[in-house]
Amino acid sequence: MQRTAVCTCGQLSVTVAGDPAFHGLCSCLECQKLTGSAFSYSGYWPKEAVRRIAGESKSWRRGSDSGRWLDQHFCPTCSCAVFGYAEFAPDMINVSIGNFTDPGFPPPTYAVWNEHRHPWVALPDACTSRPWRSGTEEGGDDQG
Ligand SMILES: [Zn+2]
Ligand SMILES: [Zn+2]
Repeated sequence: MQRTAVCTCGQLSVTVAGDPAFHGLCSCLECQKLTGSAFSYSGYWPKEAVRRIAGESKSWRRGSDSGRWLDQHFCPTCSCAVFGYAEFAPDMINVSIGNFTDPGFPPPTYAVWNEHRHPWVALPDACTSRPWRSGTEEGGDDQG
């Protein structure tokens, strides 16, 4: 199965194969600014899962509440942040779930930076706080 995430003007897209290794919500304040919304919603795929990146993108390296960087790639025309690369997951690509325009996408499996989560945002039962390093308290909170 392949999915294509497309920016709002349509010129930038990324196609990935299979389901994400993990995907969920981040309520960190940087993500709130990035999206203009209450949280970001994105997933991580292994870089080998990328089938195609089409169109022009610009990128910038932003910080995160945990201090690690994330290279955010966005469309220079419509500014939509379609994908990125995170310091904590060097072999993976991060893709914004909303850009798949698929309300049937599986529900999120994690939620991080819950201390900054708007209190009206309810989470599915399946959401954990640190899905990618179960059993440790280290890291991960800087996902985009
Ligand atoms: Zn665009
Ligand atoms: Zn965040």
